[in-house]
Amino acid sequence: MIQLYHVHKRYPNGCDALSDVTLRIREGEFAFLTGPSGAGKSTLLRLLLVMERATDGQILIGGRNIHVLRDASIPFLRRNIGLVFQDFKLIPRRNVFDNVAIGLEIMGLGHKDIERRVNQLLEGLRLLHKAQSFPGDLSGGEQQRVAIARALVNEPAILLCDEPTGNLDPDLSDEVLQLLLDINRRGTTVVVATHDTQLVDRYGLRTLVLAQGQLVEDRPRASRTLDF
Ligand code: ADP
Repeated sequence: MIQLYHVHKRYPNGCDALSDVTLRIREGEFAFLTGPSGAGKSTLLRLLLVMERATDGQILIGGRNIHVLRDASIPFLRRNIGLVFQDFKLIPRRNVFDNVAIGLEIMGLGHKDIERRVNQLLEGLRLLHKAQSFPGDLSGGEQQRVAIARALVNEPAILLCDEPTGNLDPDLSDEVLQLLLDINRRGTTVVVATHDTQLVDRYGLRTLVLAQGQLVEDRPRASRTLDF
């Protein structure tokens, strides 16, 4: 699903954020991308979204080489990739339902279809009772669940999460992780970038470790993983 071959990223200021990174994440896999701050995690996610272009090497998503993607094709790629951020990025003056519905409104779906899809998603994430609430009235964990619902509304094949638990205490972090694992079990490929090594170590899942732009470790999923 996601393949990188000898990927190098040098920013215009001369900073080598990624050096010779080769990795593969299979369809339906769950992978942590970890490493200290500045290791290159966000840069890797930005390359997958073509928000930045690699200086060297190849990146394939779903078998397509995104290095040669024309600008006009980028929105189609991004439609297949859901995004979750540390700071949720919800729109404060839109209620939960309307925050989740945005992606479908942009796609031009009809009112009835939007209502069906959003309600189904909110129900699955135990948020239906909060549909009319505004982000400011929700806990951090609830806000992140809304952000995950919004990321899933277009049924993307891949879900990329950049420090999704960064603003949450350990209990809520585990709750969000559980949700991401559920989503993965239903078939979505999930990549979670986090510097929280305690969180990563608790799960024993596939873990790609970056340090100073290099892939220094690729830990496979442990044969016995915690199953909550
Ligand atoms: P992480 O997400 O692991 O914290 P980043 O990918 O944000 O790491 O950063 C990797 C390296 O690239 C760091 O040294 C950072 O300073 C540098 N960097 C990130 N973005 C830019 C940019 N837009 N221009 C120049 N250097 C950058």
